[in-house]
Amino acid sequence: MTKPRLQRLMGVGVATALVACVVTAALVCAWQLGIYRQREDALSHFGHFSASIELMGATSSERGQSVLAMTLRGDDASIRADLAATRARMDGLWSGLLALTPQERQESVDLEEDAETYRRILLEGRARVDALLTAPAQTRTAADVERAVRLIYSAADQARVLRDDLGEVLIGLTPDLTPFMTAAMAASDLREYAGRIRSLVAIRLNAGGSPSPAAAAEFASMLALTDILQQQIEHYAAPFIADPAVDRAMTAVTFGYFAGARAHAETVFAAPVGDPASSVEAFNKRYSPAIRTTEALRDAILKVGGERLAAERDRSLRLAVASLVAAVVGTLVGVSSLVVFDRGVFRPLVQARARMARILEGDLDAAVGKASAPFREMTDLDRDIEKLRRQQIELKRLEDEREVMARELRRLATTDPLTGLMNRRAFETEVAELFAAPAAWGAGLGIVMIDIDHFKSINDRFGHAIGDAVLREFGRFLLRAAPTGSRVARFGGEEFVLALADIGRDELYARIEGLRLRLAGTVLLDEPSLSVTASFGVHWVPAGGRLDWDAFHRVADAHLYQAKRNGRNRVAWSA
Ligand code: GH3
Ligand code: MG
Ligand code: MG
Repeated sequence: MTKPRLQRLMGVGVATALVACVVTAALVCAWQLGIYRQREDALSHFGHFSASIELMGATSSERGQSVLAMTLRGDDASIRADLAATRARMDGLWSGLLALTPQERQESVDLEEDAETYRRILLEGRARVDALLTAPAQTRTAADVERAVRLIYSAADQARVLRDDLGEVLIGLTPDLTPFMTAAMAASDLREYAGRIRSLVAIRLNAGGSPSPAAAAEFASMLALTDILQQQIEHYAAPFIADPAVDRAMTAVTFGYFAGARAHAETVFAAPVGDPASSVEAFNKRYSPAIRTTEALRDAILKVGGERLAAERDRSLRLAVASLVAAVVGTLVGVSSLVVFDRGVFRPLVQARARMARILEGDLDAAVGKASAPFREMTDLDRDIEKLRRQQIELKRLEDEREVMARELRRLATTDPLTGLMNRRAFETEVAELFAAPAAWGAGLGIVMIDIDHFKSINDRFGHAIGDAVLREFGRFLLRAAPTGSRVARFGGEEFVLALADIGRDELYARIEGLRLRLAGTVLLDEPSLSVTASFGVHWVPAGGRLDWDAFHRVADAHLYQAKRNGRNRVAWSA
């Protein structure tokens, strides 16, 4: 069974759509997986960058703790314990960063050198701080403290170099993270300079007197730097990041740090110094908590950046999975639609068509339909074809019936109902055919008109029913006794006729005479004193003769009349 053209077209259409669907899904999936890997890389670099920022923050903290430990007169055990804890945390962050960044350090010689330099400077600074802290507080000069502090500044600067180098790698990898990077760098710088401002104030309080022009200039430049950083975050990075948590942290920095702590630092820096130890402690108490707002800002920026990256990474993974699912679903839908249409529409359609063809050919029994298609339209079609088939069967039955009736009508129209012989009309049609083909007469053609003698008196004596019975028996006798090949008919009333082709004249006369004698000797009906005779008028023409039926009949009838006149129960013919 060949598939319908429509089905082949649909197959090509679905296959094309499937290929397009699968190719598109594969492309989207590959594209999104690419983005996923890129975001994953960016996220890991961002983690390294965050770790470097954390290291920088911790370096600032260590510096703050060191300055505090050195500038406070007298041995404060808790401050030393804090410093030890900060250093331990620092070392943890340091080894963490080293563990995270082997690849970056391998790829960038600068980075490796930066890291080594940072560590060297930090350890030198620590050694300097420790030397000062182990000596009695009274032997520490302000200049010694300042030198140690500046060495730790250098460590913080070096931490910043490290951070910037890592940041560069990340900006190259993910340019859209630039606002986060610059904001995070600025926030961590802000934290660093806020710490330096604290150290400068502490050094200034420790030194006493009035600030030297150089110290005042350095302090002023720190203030200016923090202003610039604030503006950089507020007007450049924060709007790009557009995150409420970052905005909140920024507001806290503006009010908590700039308007509060930093303004206080300016006042303290400019004022004359009383007891250095108590002023450092009092200043620190007021100033240090505000530094934490800058740390919070830095951490908020890093958190939002990390979350955005993770969200983008997850979204690309979801898109990749969704495109695969779409391809699978599309394939399933496409293939199942082909199967459903094949089973539900096309096969039933082809079967329906085959059945229609059989019905049209008249093969009604073979075209029995089974409505099993899953779609109503198809079952309807099947049902309608079945209806059509039944109508055709009914039509055929009516046609057969009509045919039988027509045959019966024909038979009735050509048969005499009483005797079952041909009637006059049928006989005349037959002889007309004979007259139309004289070649078929053979030896000659004879017509014999027969009339029962005194039939009226049979009716009168025995009744009409016996008369009918005599007519019936007379017909049977004629059929039986007439020469072979005769056409026998009831001509009307008690008159009968014979037509006989391919017979010679003498033979015909002899046969008819024999017929007459046989009739006279035959008992047609077992009825006392009922005997039946007939008179015969015979006309014969040789083959090739040219006569029409009327003329022929007229002659035969005349001979019959002659036979009656001559006394009945005799045969009369042309001499
Ligand atoms: P003839 O010897 O001169 O032929 O005399 P006949 O009595 O036979 O002829 P006639 O023509 O006088 O009468 C024919 C009768 O046949 C008249 C009619 O009632 C009768 N007849 C014609 N058809 C039928 C029929 O179908 N059944 C019966 N019972 N009688 C019939
Ligand atoms: Mg008569
Ligand atoms: Mg008669």
